[in-house]
Amino acid sequence: MKIAVIGAGMAGLTVARNLQSFAEVTVFDKSKGTGGRLSSRSFAGGWIDHGAPYFSTDSQDFLQFLQRHMSTDVLQLWQPGTSGFLPKNERCGYIGMPRNSAVTRALLGDLRFQPSTRIARLEHCPEGWRLFNDGDTLLGIWQQVVIAVPAPQALVLVRDQPHLAGQIRAVEMEPCWVAAIQSESPLEDVADLSGYEHPVICRIVCNSAKPMRQNENLYVVQATKDWSKNHLEDTADWVGKNMLQNFCSLTSTACNCNLLFVHRWRYAFTEIALGQPCLWDTELKLGICGDWCLGRRVEDAWQSATELVHRILQDAK
Ligand SMILES: Cc1cc2nc3c(=O)[nH]c(=O)nc-3n(C[C@H](O)[C@H](O)[C@H](O)COP(=O)(O)OP(=O)(O)OC[C@H]3O[C@@H](n4cnc5c(N)ncnc54)[C@H](O)[C@@H]3O)c2cc1C
Repeated sequence: MKIAVIGAGMAGLTVARNLQSFAEVTVFDKSKGTGGRLSSRSFAGGWIDHGAPYFSTDSQDFLQFLQRHMSTDVLQLWQPGTSGFLPKNERCGYIGMPRNSAVTRALLGDLRFQPSTRIARLEHCPEGWRLFNDGDTLLGIWQQVVIAVPAPQALVLVRDQPHLAGQIRAVEMEPCWVAAIQSESPLEDVADLSGYEHPVICRIVCNSAKPMRQNENLYVVQATKDWSKNHLEDTADWVGKNMLQNFCSLTSTACNCNLLFVHRWRYAFTEIALGQPCLWDTELKLGICGDWCLGRRVEDAWQSATELVHRILQDAK
């Protein structure tokens, strides 16, 4: 049995890992590495977590799954000093070491992985599914396919399956602009993790407060949903200048700060979820999962993927 998994974020890798002993699994991702929205960028010999800064594990099953697949050197509980407006369950959480994408890298293990490969379309055939890349080159045939990408990207892949596309169309996702800013000296009044009720900035995370990031006075600043939506198509240059200005005034910092980069997450968070754990078509042998099926957190991605694995294995009995 050959199964293709599209997407190497938490959802895709949870599926791939759990099906590894049942099938020959190949994971595809359009990016150079694993992680998706839990990824990190290298910077001056260190790391910046520009996606999810940390994540909570409400269920023991999720924590146990992670602990089974990675050592305590990779997964660590982060208990930052906090300030401002933060939901109770977002005041601490797990991080990867020395970067958040180490979590998904550990999950990948020795799985067959094809990075830098965007799956542009799927074609159903008598043997299963043909997968094609951006250049419309046939990559191979798989008996079963799992799609573990954000809803709007999943929709493109199932456009020829109206019963699946119709359900995914109801899902809405929201963008988020993120800026990485480095100040020349520590900002005494800014906690490791701060939440704001502000028109532009909703969260500031001190990346340097996490162990092993190898950088000083580095802050990851998250813009609000409305501001990100209103400026979705503005240039990175304009967005960066604006976020830097707002960061300085919000933290009462004289502008001895440098903007390192901005990143636009077009599909950062779920606004309206699917409302069911996953989609699995028994006839087509096509499954779909991701955080957006259930919610907007890393744990939702894991939960959705775990349920899909359960359905695939039930189906095979
Ligand atoms: C700025 C930010 C802050 C966040 N903060 C938190 C937080 O504090 N706590 C929390 O729990 N969650 C947080 N999240 C949300 C969390 O990151 C997501 O819920 C989770 O990572 C989603 O995992 P996933 O596997 O479902 O999707 P993704 O991580 O998006 O993985 C999908 C993968 O599919 C790939 N892909 C897409 N289309 C294709 C294609 N056609 N072909 C091949 N590959 C494709 C992508 O490159 C990506 O790697 C945050 C997200 C962002 C952006």
